[in-house]
Amino acid sequence: MLPFKLIYSDDYYLPIGAHVFPAEKYRRIHERLLESGVATEADFITPQVATDQDILLVHTPQYVEKLKTGTLTAREELQMEVPYSPELVRAFWLAAGGSILAAQHALKDRVAFNIGGGFHHAFPDHGEGFCVIHDVAVAIRRMQRDDKIQTAMTVDCDVHHGNGTAAIFAGVRVPSDPLPSAGSATLAAARSAKIRNAHAGDVFTISLHQEHNYPAWKPPSSIDVDLPDGIGDHDYLAWLDNALSSGLRQFEPDLMCYIAGADPYKEDQLGGLSLTIEGLKKRDELVFRVARARDIPVMVTFAGGYARRVDDTVTIHCNTVMAAKGVFGT
Ligand SMILES: [Zn+2]
Repeated sequence: MLPFKLIYSDDYYLPIGAHVFPAEKYRRIHERLLESGVATEADFITPQVATDQDILLVHTPQYVEKLKTGTLTAREELQMEVPYSPELVRAFWLAAGGSILAAQHALKDRVAFNIGGGFHHAFPDHGEGFCVIHDVAVAIRRMQRDDKIQTAMTVDCDVHHGNGTAAIFAGVRVPSDPLPSAGSATLAAARSAKIRNAHAGDVFTISLHQEHNYPAWKPPSSIDVDLPDGIGDHDYLAWLDNALSSGLRQFEPDLMCYIAGADPYKEDQLGGLSLTIEGLKKRDELVFRVARARDIPVMVTFAGGYARRVDDTVTIHCNTVMAAKGVFGT
């Protein structure tokens, strides 16, 4: 039995038809974790659908109303890049409920997974890039409302910039020290990457992403690492290490929200980085080791993954669970 919980429901499936987003990946991850013996049924907990009140902690009443009544404009639906249906809306409300539950369990057990979620392109007033509701932001605001946490840090390792996250948490700003320049020999090879630093409020946002990729407009995170095309394991891990150390020098979060996208993978159809499956597991281990060393609870969500073979995406996500088992299981 795992020393942490996995939040999952068969209803995470997104009814979007034939789509580059492999909506069946959640079910396959669940199956694989059981078949491979990494987890047993007792490790899984079924989430409840988030309440409208929870969703409204992040999203505007107008947007929520449009989603619930099916009155998005054609342009708004196009921007979501997933076809609207009441079932789709319910799946996103459920993903948000799953992230709330994962955050609650992370605070108890040091780490917990939502086997879904990570919809980091959703904004308060609109959805985009396959993301309708920002489940991670909803979970953070709910934990704050319940006085479980005051501060949080998002660590977004999806290949795409966390534009929704940056926009949602850009509101309240406090002064922070500038990021020390990355002068180490390890980073010399990756000189063409850029690191940008902005002030943080009560939620510190870190995003490592491919610079030349969606979204075109990248509102500033607290730390943005704009990676060049084709970056591999070694350089990526050095930049991640640097961003985590810099972030944690500036900010002490009560909860870390790790957005463990599978799309920095070299075989990804929507990504242009060159990480291997092994490198991605090292990435996960690095995040977990840092969190454990500083005693920061971690809630994990899965975000994107568009490998040519869906099997690879499933492997990458399952490896994140195994990495947590390795780091927190001892
Ligand atoms: Zn992505």
